Amino acid sequence: MRFDIVTIFPAFFAGIFEHGIVNRARAKGFVSTEVHDLRAFTHDRHRTVDDRPFGGGEGMVLKAEPLAEALASLGLATREARAADPDAARTRVILLSAQGRPFTQSIARDFATLDRAVLLCGRYEGVDERINQLYCDMELSIGDYVLSGGELAAAVVIDAAMRLIPGVLGNEASGEFESFGVADADIAVDANGVPRSQHGAGGLLDYPHYTRPAEFGGLRAPDVLLNGDHLEIRRWRREQQLRKTFANRPDLLQAASLTDEDRRLLDVIRRERTS
Ligand code: SAM
Repeated sequence: MRFDIVTIFPAFFAGIFEHGIVNRARAKGFVSTEVHDLRAFTHDRHRTVDDRPFGGGEGMVLKAEPLAEALASLGLATREARAADPDAARTRVILLSAQGRPFTQSIARDFATLDRAVLLCGRYEGVDERINQLYCDMELSIGDYVLSGGELAAAVVIDAAMRLIPGVLGNEASGEFESFGVADADIAVDANGVPRSQHGAGGLLDYPHYTRPAEFGGLRAPDVLLNGDHLEIRRWRREQQLRKTFANRPDLLQAASLTDEDRRLLDVIRRERTS
């Protein structure tokens, strides 16, 4: 998969993808990242990329022409033209924007199946809206706050999507066994039919993790994790997933895949909280 980033600050990305899993994914050829300087697509002495907003008001707006030229240089036609081109079916042009739809793990999973994602980083008050209308498949926000530019958001989207490309994570760190992962029932047993001690989140948060030493800061790691009984561990972890989600992200419970046993545990947790 290839990620193209269009930005007025290309140096921002120097080194950012050169660590850990993302670096390995690039080294192994699973992904490539190409950074494009928007100023290279200007034609005046000052390499102007922005202008004052029509209608007045604070700040500046990134001009449409350099962005359109940058996209053309990447071989990207308008959204309408791409929709009619089967070769472009697995390409997305994404505008990073606080006004976008919220970026989620499920969108990251979807991006991981693409051939190419092109990320446009806004600055100042944002990007001339006609670029969004003409070229972008999606306006994407990484959270309900305003960043000073789309570069951090682009890095977040790339990191989250890249690690879900098949083969990038090892089995031991599979994207199935973590927050927002697949439904638990899908992976309750491994390929040999052996019950797993790990859980799929099915839209819930992950359970807490512990490692050696067993005792730290006066706190002991839960005994259940030390006794080697994988079914017991599994049960305990599911309960912890439900507890964490209930405490930190109760909104996720609405859409989570829950078993009857999960619902029973949630009732217990709810009663504990209200008593
Ligand atoms: N005037 C815009 C608004 O109120 O929605 C904010 C513009 S912001 C200062 C500059 C750029 O940062 C945006 O064009 C966008 O590319 C990026 N940005 C800011 N917040 C973001 C967010 N939550 N998610 C993704 N990109 C964001």
